[in-house]
Amino acid sequence: MSGPPRQNEQLRKFLNLFRKNRLVFIVAISTCLLYGSCASKDSIRKRRYERPSASSSQQSAVRHKYHVIKKGETLYGIAKKYGVSVKEIQRINRIKDARDIDVGRKIYIPRRSKSVSSRPKRVVKPKYTSPKASVRFVWPVKRVDISSRYGARTNGRHDGIDLRARKGTPIYAAARGKVIFSGTGPTGYGKMIIIKHDKRTITIYAHNQRNLVKKNRFVKRGQKIGEVGRSGRATGYHVHFEIRINRKPVNPEKYLPRR
Ligand SMILES: [Zn+2]
Repeated sequence: MSGPPRQNEQLRKFLNLFRKNRLVFIVAISTCLLYGSCASKDSIRKRRYERPSASSSQQSAVRHKYHVIKKGETLYGIAKKYGVSVKEIQRINRIKDARDIDVGRKIYIPRRSKSVSSRPKRVVKPKYTSPKASVRFVWPVKRVDISSRYGARTNGRHDGIDLRARKGTPIYAAARGKVIFSGTGPTGYGKMIIIKHDKRTITIYAHNQRNLVKKNRFVKRGQKIGEVGRSGRATGYHVHFEIRINRKPVNPEKYLPRR
């Protein structure tokens, strides 16, 4: 340590100052080291690239929007570095062949960094589950012959199922309840019966030949309530049967016993 006297003087002053305020210096230096703010930006970047942890590569993917392709780089390597997928880079930059990239080309790095290793998450749609029935049902006809199922139809949707049967075939109450309607239903339904089973559950029987129960009457499960017809807008003899829970039609087949 033999420098010019002036420098030695400065060093001595510095050391004196250091001795006096040792604690302050220690805190300051360790803070510097912790945050790396004393190191040059280049060295930080170098460190980051040498050890690309998942989080740092994701961070850089968010920070960097563009990347200039250097000699020897591959799209795969670039994708890995930024924590995005090769396909995503290809798609955004319209690169057909991943091997066909030019040195010096500026490419866009997608912002949303998907981890390369993890598979793309599948968006799980909330599955529609039929509301639980508080009522146990039986089929409204003995011989079950479904001519039209519940759900989408070419002309709108079908709120129930159609059970084909001969004219005059007995229709049975699907569950015990109170008849809340017996008469001619809204357009197309013809002669119709509605039974309320509990606060939220009703069943509908339409296109009947005859209704055998009157409004406000209580019926048992399996009790004969009407006869199959083709009243209203019906192409053939059948009973149009609906179950509604909380006013919404549900697929009766999901509630009726398996055949
Ligand atoms: Zn129908």
